[in-house]
Amino acid sequence: MEGTVVKLDRGFPLVRCDDGANVRCEHATALVKGERLRAVIGDRVIVSMPEGHDKGIIDGILPRRSSFVRKDPADRTSHQVLAANFELVIIAEPIVQLNRRRLERELVLAHETGARVAVVLTKADLAGLDEAEAVRQEVADLAGRSVHVLVASIGDAPSIERVRALLSAGEVAILIGKSGVGKSSLVNMLAGGEVQDVGEVRSFDGKGRHTTVDRVMVDIPGGGRVVDMPGVRGLGLWDADAGLGVAFADVEELAASCRFRDCKHADEPGCAVQAAVKSGDLAQARLDSYRSFGAELEGVRTRRDEARHMRGEKASDRRRKKKGR
Ligand code: GDP
Ligand code: ZN
Repeated sequence: MEGTVVKLDRGFPLVRCDDGANVRCEHATALVKGERLRAVIGDRVIVSMPEGHDKGIIDGILPRRSSFVRKDPADRTSHQVLAANFELVIIAEPIVQLNRRRLERELVLAHETGARVAVVLTKADLAGLDEAEAVRQEVADLAGRSVHVLVASIGDAPSIERVRALLSAGEVAILIGKSGVGKSSLVNMLAGGEVQDVGEVRSFDGKGRHTTVDRVMVDIPGGGRVVDMPGVRGLGLWDADAGLGVAFADVEELAASCRFRDCKHADEPGCAVQAAVKSGDLAQARLDSYRSFGAELEGVRTRRDEARHMRGEKASDRRRKKKGR
């Protein structure tokens, strides 16, 4: 049977099978070994139900049509998939004290997934109307034409309705953003006031405590589902050249006119990007962000290649030793 992983916590993934049943599952032995092989929220999985077993078994994970990937915060040379199979990434940022640098990073990661991207500026009630519109306009300029930018507050039902309308029936959105920006409040409103716990009663660990629910997929009445992604603290870039290209399309369009194809837009002659900064067409801060993300990606690539090289060398060392014996 096939199903979708709708909840992940420290216990066992909860799978909503295509027949509607919610089943707690464990991974088949072959999948337990590597964290990379385990299912993430949104994954489509193949589940079997062994006779006399109290849990289903995840035998396989179907190919992902989209995934949200970051650098593993605990390992500089590997990555983590945090969610799979969604059509929309909603970035939540507070309208007051918006962090532009963080938003740019979120845009790069979101675009890298290939899904549609929207920004919701939360807690609009904390800003005046003029201020809210000014911030919305600024974010819309920064995010570019392909990104919907909405302003919302939990007390304003029509604003929540506009967020809901981003999603068609059957589509899944993931919601990212720093803790405290109002993501769970937004999910609650989208779900109609109260988030229904999918499947069973809240699980408790052996000591009677609530186990932490890390990720849960929530149904939105009227169509669509949303995944709140709490605890996404570190958002290190991994393979994000494509995402960088979309999020910084303004810079890359200019760069196409630089004299040198490998122009670093520092002090090369004939640099169209620097020319745009001088003429005021491109903000210096924007170029600084672009270059620093580029350097971050370069660093990731270098470390990854080094790690591969080391593994390769070790393997050949072993071969050499074997031969020598
Ligand atoms: P999360 O950590 O991103 O899930 O954020 P929460 O949904 O837990 O919200 C963090 C805090 O912001 C809570 O105290 C909420 O009551 C508050 N909050 C959320 N949305 C709004 C809003 O639209 N307006 C105002 N004024 N406060 C909000
Ligand atoms: Zn240049």
